[in-house]
Amino acid sequence: MADEFNQPLSGNIMPRFAGPSTMMRLASASGPRGLDAAFVGVPFDLGTSNRAGTRFGPRQIRAESALLRPCNLGTGAAPFDRLRVADLGDVPLNPYNPGKSLAAIEEFFSALAREGCRPLALGGDHTITLPILRALHRQYGSLGLVHVDAHADCNDAMMGETVTHGTHIRRAVEEGLVTPSRVVQIGLRGTGYSPGDLDWGRDQGFTVVQAEQCWHISLAPLMNQVRQALGPGPVYLTYDIDGLDPSCAPGTGTPEPGGLTSAQGLEIIRGCQGLDLVGCDLVEVSPPYDPLGNTALLAANLLFEMLCVLPDRRPGS
Ligand code: MN
Ligand code: MN
Repeated sequence: MADEFNQPLSGNIMPRFAGPSTMMRLASASGPRGLDAAFVGVPFDLGTSNRAGTRFGPRQIRAESALLRPCNLGTGAAPFDRLRVADLGDVPLNPYNPGKSLAAIEEFFSALAREGCRPLALGGDHTITLPILRALHRQYGSLGLVHVDAHADCNDAMMGETVTHGTHIRRAVEEGLVTPSRVVQIGLRGTGYSPGDLDWGRDQGFTVVQAEQCWHISLAPLMNQVRQALGPGPVYLTYDIDGLDPSCAPGTGTPEPGGLTSAQGLEIIRGCQGLDLVGCDLVEVSPPYDPLGNTALLAANLLFEMLCVLPDRRPGS
């Protein structure tokens, strides 16, 4: 499909409640060859600590994405006119075996990275970011990280387990997948086990922006600083929907009050324009706790915004 620019199926051709169940009703593809970017579902919830259900996230995000149109009226972006994009379906996980599932995720995303195809992952709980980072690190080297979340996800272990949705950032540092001085966490808040719960990342060199620092203000100035700090190297954006306030994103496993607004959530992604984003994910949408579908709809919009800020295709790809 070398020079083919897929377009989402228009609501003027097929009504929005019908047609294919792919992300934005795009073409599906069986592999990453020839693609600049791809949506990938990762229906995993074996790493959750409270409410489960994120295994249903990709399907519901795709369903709600049928409302999305191809142009961004806020920024003027028209990503389908410059990027070759398709939906690659879901990673074939094994729900009886978390280890095998994580290995399958790493293998799937390694194949994308080798083809220069930048993934936009539909989670799934936040554990999935670890195997994705392992795959992208192999291709691009140590990464910068923009991490939106209510939680630091820097626990050493949870109930003795070292790979969960609350430990993956710490593992990523230990494994050298990310450069700590190029890690920015935004939106952290809530209750902890000790007052110093957010200090582990700071001690590594992270920039930690707590939710209280974001209250009532535009995050555009913050993102100007983030772009300066991260510079020209490869960056991954990992976006936990619980970074946003439960009033706009209730359908998630570990909600915390006092979160970011949906407008601030957009400002963070739009503020990533100009970074060398090599991949993004949107995690922790749990449809059983999202009866109106608004959380999944917001997630679909955030994934589209990520596509809008991906750099142009790599030279020679
Ligand atoms: Mn979280
Ligand atoms: Mn998280």
